[in-house]
Amino acid sequence: MKVHNFNAGPSVLPNEVLYKASKALIDFEGSGMSILEIGHRTEPFVAVMEEARNLVRELMQLDDDFEVLYLHGGATTQFMQVPMNLLESSETAAYVDTGVWSNKAIKEAKLFGFVDVVASSKDSNYNHIPKQFNIPPQASYLHITTNNTIYGTQWHMTPVTDVPLIADMSSDIMSRSMDFNKYSLIYAGVQKNMGAAGATMVAIRKSMLGKVSRKIPAILDYKNHIDNGSMLNTPPVFAVYISMLTLRWLKEQGGIPAIEKINEKKAALLYDEIDHNPLFRGTVAKEDRSLMNACFIMDKPEMEEEFLKFCKKEDIVGIKGHRLSGGFRVSMYNALPYESVEVMVEAMKYFSLKKA
Ligand code: PLP
Repeated sequence: MKVHNFNAGPSVLPNEVLYKASKALIDFEGSGMSILEIGHRTEPFVAVMEEARNLVRELMQLDDDFEVLYLHGGATTQFMQVPMNLLESSETAAYVDTGVWSNKAIKEAKLFGFVDVVASSKDSNYNHIPKQFNIPPQASYLHITTNNTIYGTQWHMTPVTDVPLIADMSSDIMSRSMDFNKYSLIYAGVQKNMGAAGATMVAIRKSMLGKVSRKIPAILDYKNHIDNGSMLNTPPVFAVYISMLTLRWLKEQGGIPAIEKINEKKAALLYDEIDHNPLFRGTVAKEDRSLMNACFIMDKPEMEEEFLKFCKKEDIVGIKGHRLSGGFRVSMYNALPYESVEVMVEAMKYFSLKKA
């Protein structure tokens, strides 16, 4: 029996994907071999990699300047790989600080060039997205984190700028319609909306490359990965396969516009309960609330443990807030069924009635 899985990542995957992946673990498409046993340069796996890369292009409607890569190392490696490839040591990159993940990206960028933190919501414990900031026109790029997984804030507009825009979309990639072509580089660990842990998706404009003078180690050079069809070394075969299945599933649902409608419905249901139930209170500015991770607390924190235990009995898992923000964090990624949010809301209602 499956539980209602609100984990922040790795997180819930569609049943169809899990079923197909488990079959492929024993026999990959009738090859008599497990997906774990096939050579990554054999025709069946190259086809998987190509389908995954093409599905990213198709679902995000990327223009022809973009290349899509599946890399190792998680989004955390991108914190370093982005400035190593794109920031000249004498130049400045602009970053917006919206929480832990932005901070990690900022720290790594400082190893390669100058960093201008053009805005930060740190003083208010990252409870909103900064709206007012100036981007130096000579900045090599502007980096934002579109969804702040720990604090539950999300950018609901795209910054208007002439400098190349780069985004860590690890926790809201493919969850809502956006003009992805406004970006010059998008990266995301795939373990939330795009599959299982082990691979990182990078969509990069070719026109961004070849501009820095430093020598880049082969494995960290985007151009090298592009030239080798995202197959420079052994790719994370199983993670890429699961991502491909997850993207096929997303396409079958009607793509990003269709999943966006469901995501909006799920978030509306939960936030409505947070706003009307006297026991709970949202922790972030309403206009910046994340549709993926809803963060809230109880006015009586001594009740939190009891509520968690109660939820566990209802097969609700993964709702404890991050240690930095406390309270609860309910993650509602693409594969989370609407019914799970209904169960969550019922639990909040029932618990509140019991305590009244
Ligand atoms: N960026 C964001 C927004 C995240 O939510 C996470 C992980 O949860 C990361 C980066 C780090 O990703 P990874 O563990 O793939 O390095």
